[in-house]
Amino acid sequence: MTAIKTATGTLVFEPIPGAELARIRGASADEAGNALAPLADAPVGSPLRCCLREVRAGERILLIAYTPPGTAGAYAERGPVFIHADACGGYPTPWAYPPELSHRQQVVRAYDHEGRIATGVLVDDGDHATEAIRELLGQPDVALVQLRNVGFGCYNFTVRRA
Ligand SMILES: [Zn+2]
Repeated sequence: MTAIKTATGTLVFEPIPGAELARIRGASADEAGNALAPLADAPVGSPLRCCLREVRAGERILLIAYTPPGTAGAYAERGPVFIHADACGGYPTPWAYPPELSHRQQVVRAYDHEGRIATGVLVDDGDHATEAIRELLGQPDVALVQLRNVGFGCYNFTVRRA
């Protein structure tokens, strides 16, 4: 895989940062104060926001409330996301669109420098998403984009300029 570039430089694909994950796992509670316990029925095939791949059978998974970065005021949305219950090493190829999530339809949601939604684009897969991300992050008024699930709207990951 090669780095994806825009007119303004390379892109970085960001999971939930490792330090934040360590704090959440260590506290056994999420930012909303919900006590955390591994799910008895881990949802195989759901996206993991710690390492940007799908849940495999038998893995220990937590469901946490999380507010993604880059939003402000009324635009700061907290929502449910799955993470590994134990440290997993994070996302290994932050210069590339997550290969194990690239078959998914997504909404690419752009935020401006004040943390407000600038626009949202429905995309069919990772290649289509990459085109949309490059176009959006080529605009100076777009600070970052978030990838979100289509049906439930849940946050998956952030993309910024490097
Ligand atoms: Zn993980």
